[in-house]
Amino acid sequence: MRVAVISDVHSNLVALEAVIRHLPAVEAIWSLGDAVGYGPQPNECLSLLRDKVSIAIAGNHDWGSLGKVGFEDFNDAAAVAARWTGAQLTAQSRAYLAGLKMQQEMGEFSLVHGSPRDPLWDYLANASRAEACFPLFKGQYCLVGHTHVPAVFSQDEQGGAVHVSIPRDGARMPLAKGKAIYNPGSVGQPRDGDPRAAYAVLDLNERTISFARVEYDFGATQARMQAVGLPEFLWKRLEAGR
Ligand code: ZN
Repeated sequence: MRVAVISDVHSNLVALEAVIRHLPAVEAIWSLGDAVGYGPQPNECLSLLRDKVSIAIAGNHDWGSLGKVGFEDFNDAAAVAARWTGAQLTAQSRAYLAGLKMQQEMGEFSLVHGSPRDPLWDYLANASRAEACFPLFKGQYCLVGHTHVPAVFSQDEQGGAVHVSIPRDGARMPLAKGKAIYNPGSVGQPRDGDPRAAYAVLDLNERTISFARVEYDFGATQARMQAVGLPEFLWKRLEAGR
């Protein structure tokens, strides 16, 4: 069985469509949260995700745009975008976002947006942040999003030190022998200096994970964001991937 893992679509329909076109044949798509927020097409992204995704979990922006969590930890531009998104959402979109779980177990995989320590907000941005999370997930592997940076955190089989690596486009590796945390990167707002949309594929027969990047027309997304009056900081960063 092959499973595509996507995260942080952030209402960027052009990027989401490019990723879906680029995917190899997969039996399932799992989404790790932040389907909305920042970008210009929340309802369109949610209806495509409802169609294509078998497991979806909640991110801070998903519930922020519903008003289900506060904006205290959002920067100004993120709060503006969350309010704008909330005002656009259809009843169907709101119901879908409200029904997302914060965490889900899929066999040996634990799915969460931020981290098992704080599912909505924790940023696993380095090995020491990740290390504290290793005892906290049940499965052998944890899948996270939220940082918008593809990453692999792995622990040796004895449960010792945690190593971090940043997988590049096309990287393919065996699933770790010990516990590991994988981040596929962001579809709709990459922040690792590469503006291309990111995703990962788990091959559960071959026991591998691969990481991919896809070019998309970020200019089209930027133009839509400008047209609806979303903050310049948010659309500018798409071309830099930062
Ligand atoms: Zn996000």
